[in-house]
Amino acid sequence: MARKMEQKRCKREYTFSIFPKVSTKRCIDNHLLSQVVTNHGLCPNYLKRYNLRECNCRCGEDADDGIQHHIFWCPLLDSCRSLIRPGMSIAQILQEKNKTKEVKSILNFLYSHQQDIFEEEL
Ligand SMILES: [Zn+2]
Repeated sequence: MARKMEQKRCKREYTFSIFPKVSTKRCIDNHLLSQVVTNHGLCPNYLKRYNLRECNCRCGEDADDGIQHHIFWCPLLDSCRSLIRPGMSIAQILQEKNKTKEVKSILNFLYSHQQDIFEEEL
C-alpha cells in the first residue's frame, strides 16, 4: 500500500517536472508520448520498479535506465537521433513536430529491438 502511494507520488512529480502547469489545450494522444511524460514505459527502470522484469540497458551507462536515458543518452540508440540532444526539455520536444516524431521513432526502435538493448540481470 505504502509502496503504491510512493509510486504514484513519483509519477506525479515526474510529470509535474515536465508540465508544471495544467493545460486543457495539451493533449497527449499517443501511447508512446504518454510513456515519455509519465516515465512509465518499456525501460529497465519501469520494468524493475513493477517487478515485471529484472533487466538493465546493455550500454551500462546509466544505473537509472529511465525513459529519458533512451531518448537522450543511450549510445545504443544514437543512430535514431538527429534532432534530439541532451539538455532539451521534454516539454520543448513535444512542442515541435519533427522532434516529437523522432521521439516516437526512438521508442519504436527500442521496443522492436529490446532483446538487443536490454540484458536480463543474473
Ligand atoms: Zn543505454
